[in-house]
Amino acid sequence: MISIKNVKKIYPSQKGKVTAVDDVSIEIKEGEIFGVIGYSGAGKSTLIRMLNGLEIPTEGSVVVANKKVSNIKGSELRKARQEISMIFQHFNLLWSRTVRENIAFPLEIAGIPKSQRQKRVDELINLVGLSGREDAYPSQLSGGQKQRVGIARALANNPKVLLCDEATSALDPQTTDSILELLVDINKELGLTIVLITHEMHVIRKICHRVAVMEGGRVVELGPVLDVFKNP
Ligand code: ADP
Ligand code: ADP
Repeated sequence: MISIKNVKKIYPSQKGKVTAVDDVSIEIKEGEIFGVIGYSGAGKSTLIRMLNGLEIPTEGSVVVANKKVSNIKGSELRKARQEISMIFQHFNLLWSRTVRENIAFPLEIAGIPKSQRQKRVDELINLVGLSGREDAYPSQLSGGQKQRVGIARALANNPKVLLCDEATSALDPQTTDSILELLVDINKELGLTIVLITHEMHVIRKICHRVAVMEGGRVVELGPVLDVFKNP
């Protein structure tokens, strides 16, 4: 489903160049929940942003769902992003819009007619467990509910891949668990491939099938979670 081959990302900076991702190759299977863990500055965000064209690799290639995303632009990139959706640590919701309007937003952009939009939004609200909160504004929701809106919005256009950028890092442990359980349900029910980055071991242990450990832009370990994090 995802093929990352010899990818390198070098940022220009005042002090010279920063190699954020250094010769990373990872193959992720369809239906897999794949985690990337590492300390701050390890290159996790840069790597995940290259999976949906938010960053362009300096070298190497990224193929997602048979589409090369490492060098596409414009309308092609917008189309690819309907299939490669993303959720964020701080939710990135539209604050002046209701739950329903936030979830309908990507459907509007995709040109889905209003009647179909409403039906799809209702399905999504059910799926993420937000029934009764349709007309609330983000400021009236708990952190967990905000992330449920983020997830519903990300799933609106039936993506093949969901990218999660520290999606539970702003939540308390109990809420984190409920969001992780929702991600597992979605993975099972929809067969969605999930790639998540985190600095929390707990998140990896709880839901990931395989994990890559990043350090200084490189993958230093990769394998099934139970092998990589064996209890001594
Ligand atoms: P992580 O997500 O693991 O914290 P990042 O991918 O954000 O790691 O960062 C990896 C390295 O790249 C860090 O040294 C960071 O300072 C640098 N970096 C990230 N984004 C930029 C940017 N836009 N410009 C310059 N350097 C950057
Ligand atoms: P719109 O342009 O659709 O009316 P806004 O201008 O209200 O949406 O918000 C645009 C973006 O700005 C949101 O996606 C959100 O990330 C950010 N934002 C707006 N208001 C706030 C806020 N009070 N707190 C945090 N982020 C906000």
